[in-house]
Amino acid sequence: MIKKIIQYPRLTQKYPKKPLDLPDFIGKPEIDNSKCTGCNECISACPSGCIVRDEKGVIGINLDECIFCARCEDVCASGAARMTSEFELAQKDRRLLRKTPLVIEERDIPDERYELIQREVKEKIKKIYGRSLQIRVVDAGSCNGCDYEINGLNNPFNDIERFGIRFVPSPRHADMLLVTGTATRNMELALIKTYNATPDPKLVVAVGACACSGGIFRDNYATRNGIDCIVPVDVYVPGCPPRPHAILYGILKALDRVGKK
Ligand code: SF4
Ligand code: SF4
Repeated sequence: MIKKIIQYPRLTQKYPKKPLDLPDFIGKPEIDNSKCTGCNECISACPSGCIVRDEKGVIGINLDECIFCARCEDVCASGAARMTSEFELAQKDRRLLRKTPLVIEERDIPDERYELIQREVKEKIKKIYGRSLQIRVVDAGSCNGCDYEINGLNNPFNDIERFGIRFVPSPRHADMLLVTGTATRNMELALIKTYNATPDPKLVVAVGACACSGGIFRDNYATRNGIDCIVPVDVYVPGCPPRPHAILYGILKALDRVGKK
């Protein structure tokens, strides 16, 4: 056993202590307006309809709706649209991921606690949890892509337990809900019940384009346009699916740990 430990290199990465050097990963798409010829090919080709041009002709991407498919890069003849390897994209305010203003559907359930605890929660989390956090994953109608990436957080390479973060089977034991999927109509009630079963103070992280905005399925009869139509969200992690490091960044961002390690 000791021989094996010495023989094999340590796989666990040092991220976020040390930056990752993984240039081949597909990160967020970018459009360089100075190279854009205004052909609008990318707008027509984008399957998610998330590329927009404002009245001044400036083109941009609503990243909360983007599925990171690289189609814009493929169709852009001028090279203005390109995929980067940038993955630290999670934001506490969904508006920061968007070029166009945000319209959130009215929530169906009255949540009088939301406004009250929104500000207190961050302070409480830091004070109460310290370096320990229990997470319950909720699949609210995903394709399982995001869930596979969440599973990847437990592998030896990512080893999320090094932060004292663990996945638990019951929302009653959880401090944070990691929610994937658009929240299909069939899963709405389950999500509300899971949210209510999680003790306060709690954090909710929306993982992936579907959970952030409905993604490619938004404005569909069977789904909601993102889980913030149903429960309050603390951090949005864009991507389709976001890689484990992007999810880890979002979790740490929720705890305000990033940059303090
Ligand atoms: S395809 Fe390229 S050049 Fe055409 S509108 Fe999009 S970014 Fe601009
Ligand atoms: S990566 Fe795909 S979904 Fe995102 S902006 Fe480009 S074409 Fe649209």
